[in-house]
Amino acid sequence: MKRFFVVLSIILVLLLSSCSNGIGNTSNSPNFSNVSQRGLVVSFIDVGQGDAILIKTPNGKFVLVDSGSQKEREKFFKFMEKQNIESFDAVIATHPHEDHIGNLDEIISNYKVLNIYMPKVTSNTATFRNLIQAIKSKNLKIKNAYKGVKFDLDGVKFEFLAPNSKKYEDLNNYSAVIKITYFDRSFILMGDAEKLSEGEIQKNNGDLRADVIKIGHHGSSSSSSKFFIRVVSPKYAVISCGKYNDYGHPHKETIKLLNDFKINILRTDINGTIIFNTDGKNIKILTDK
Ligand SMILES: [Zn+2]
Repeated sequence: MKRFFVVLSIILVLLLSSCSNGIGNTSNSPNFSNVSQRGLVVSFIDVGQGDAILIKTPNGKFVLVDSGSQKEREKFFKFMEKQNIESFDAVIATHPHEDHIGNLDEIISNYKVLNIYMPKVTSNTATFRNLIQAIKSKNLKIKNAYKGVKFDLDGVKFEFLAPNSKKYEDLNNYSAVIKITYFDRSFILMGDAEKLSEGEIQKNNGDLRADVIKIGHHGSSSSSSKFFIRVVSPKYAVISCGKYNDYGHPHKETIKLLNDFKINILRTDINGTIIFNTDGKNIKILTDK
């Protein structure tokens, strides 16, 4: 009888640990204060039609990838102001489109920024000129974002997977694509990279598997080719897009593909801001809707 209880308790312990281990701890909560301050925190900020991703390292260093459009300025800064940020170790402008760099000039002007990474491409828009002006007035030197550039912060590895070429017809393909790895867990942020860039990434990189992918170009069918999603083989796909946007993003082809692969989809237009927190092994997700 005693032996029976020993066996039973071992089974129970095993069952409990298999529940808390691994990925899939999802909870809905409007309260972000219960995001653990430990580990890596990756926040996909709801900025309507656009991208803005804030990364916080285990020791409280910040990296910002894009900033949404100026139209969504209030939403973006409301979130940022709650984070007690004094400086950014890195700011990454994935590519010069307004829905990505819209508020970056203000970030550069108002915060201490140690490094800024951008792909080597210019744009003749007021938004882009304002960003360059802000960078110049802070005496910052732009670091080129391209395949192979890496940096490390508190054991969190940041690696650029793209761009892989010097010239593209489509501005979207200049997108800086970033892989972030913290122990066993990883994220790939695609910017607006399209299928052409996905092909180059696959040709030039080894292990592309990641737990979380920020889907390219707001879920457009011009990104997310079947082969690329298969090699990344994510558990979670995040789509950053606005409700009833003019482009019909995310396209139904993309949603079908992700569903076919049984990938969990999280969308800023449906879930609001989406926050991933990982200790390098387990992943917790918080959404505000
Ligand atoms: Zn975009």
